[in-house]
Amino acid sequence: MNPKISAYKIIRHNFNTAVKHLGYDEETALLLQTPFREMQVNFPVRLDNGKLKVFTGYRVQHNGARGPFKGGIRFSPIVDLDEVRALAEAMSWKTAIVNVPFGGGKGGVNCDPRQLSQRELQSIARTYASRINQILGAYRDIPAPDMGTNAQVMTWIMDEYSKRNGYTPAVITGKPVELGGSKGREQATGRGVMILTKALAKDYQTDVRDLKVIVQGFGNVGSNAAKLLAQEGAIIVGLSDVEGAIYNDKGLNLNAVLEHVKKTRTVVGFPDAEQVSGEAILEKPCDVLVPAAIEGVLTEENAPRVKAKFIVEGANLPTTPEADAIFEKNGVHLVPDVLANAGGVTVSYFEWVQNLQQLSWDEDEINQRLEKQLLTAYRDITAVMKERNVSMRIAAYILGISRVHRAEELRGV
Ligand code: GLU
Repeated sequence: MNPKISAYKIIRHNFNTAVKHLGYDEETALLLQTPFREMQVNFPVRLDNGKLKVFTGYRVQHNGARGPFKGGIRFSPIVDLDEVRALAEAMSWKTAIVNVPFGGGKGGVNCDPRQLSQRELQSIARTYASRINQILGAYRDIPAPDMGTNAQVMTWIMDEYSKRNGYTPAVITGKPVELGGSKGREQATGRGVMILTKALAKDYQTDVRDLKVIVQGFGNVGSNAAKLLAQEGAIIVGLSDVEGAIYNDKGLNLNAVLEHVKKTRTVVGFPDAEQVSGEAILEKPCDVLVPAAIEGVLTEENAPRVKAKFIVEGANLPTTPEADAIFEKNGVHLVPDVLANAGGVTVSYFEWVQNLQQLSWDEDEINQRLEKQLLTAYRDITAVMKERNVSMRIAAYILGISRVHRAEELRGV
């Protein structure tokens, strides 16, 4: 992330714009934006080199009016309270937009998983879980994977929680399928990006097979979005990861790229492509740009040079308000993060439901339910867009915030 760009500033701006349209008074706005609880834990972990290191972790519970707090845990070297607070709030609006019965939360540990061994990672995950144990629960706060974490990390956290509270698979989602995870959860966020790219393209009379796509970020979200879009016939022309980026106007052979990544752990150096920088890839010619990495990558500086007609936000908060204004002026159509990447939390909801009932749905059923839930949200948002003549982002925030507000009202806060 550009260190000058605060994720919290981005979300505050989006929230304030939506609240102005909703006409809420100052007290209501204050109530809705204030996090319920913010926990910071500092804990020592013995590293493989014998040294003791103190790590700092967070769990922010933003709003729980619509249900238990829900949201991922990220392990990343830029995690801080400002970021986790912003991402927790994004989850409150996101869960309301896709209408799953959860509130918003987020967690993180400031560490660099790429520099850590499995033993060190396990130690960090378990100690962090033990420190935040008392605020978690299947009906209280349910974490999930996010940047730098995966099904294995979820398992360690579930195990730590279960040691203290009895076996509780529903306390966390994104688990391995063998341990109560849901089929389709791993691909769900990328699948959501694909579903919404198709929905947007259809609205503009475009066939997905005519779309040239650049995906920035090749983690869980980016790689699955690229695979599923390619399966639908889209032409993947650009890919990037933390090391750099590759571009081929004729289309990249995704299977060959995946083979290359397996061997070298990066897309960089893939032979049949132009090698470009992580920044330059955002400005290369394409129809669809999928930012699927970190916050604040599309700014007033690079937005004027972005060639894409469509932007589908796989990452959380990748676009600054200034860049948004430029995209609007340039006629770029954008599906905002709070809808575009909500496939993950939607299938997390399915996982939680399956855990509570001790049953397992098949993958087709999950994918069908996911598509239905996301397309309903897409329709709800486009209705608000037309009614209020606002961008899709502001329409999504209006929808999410008003649903949370209604829940607060009904509960009598
Ligand atoms: N971390 C993901 C997100 O930002 C998924 C959250 C979840 O499944 O609870 O939406």
